[in-house]
Amino acid sequence: MARGHQKIQSQAKAAEKAAKLKKAAGHSANEQKKAAQKALVHACVICKAQMPDPKTYKQHFENKHPKSEIPDDLKDV
Ligand SMILES: [Zn+2]
Repeated sequence: MARGHQKIQSQAKAAEKAAKLKKAAGHSANEQKKAAQKALVHACVICKAQMPDPKTYKQHFENKHPKSEIPDDLKDV
């Protein structure tokens, strides 16, 4: 009985591992998609210049539009 149980366990483990690998692959594809979208997300609200990341956007905002109020999502960058 113990052997049969072990076999079932190892099968379950193998299935779990396969599922994890599958999930990881899908996840990274999703992340890439997200990153690609993100690259377009940071467009300056003032001059519409596009920034690759929030930090660059914040620097841009502070340098180019110091008199404008900084967007909420940049305040904690
Ligand atoms: Zn700008």
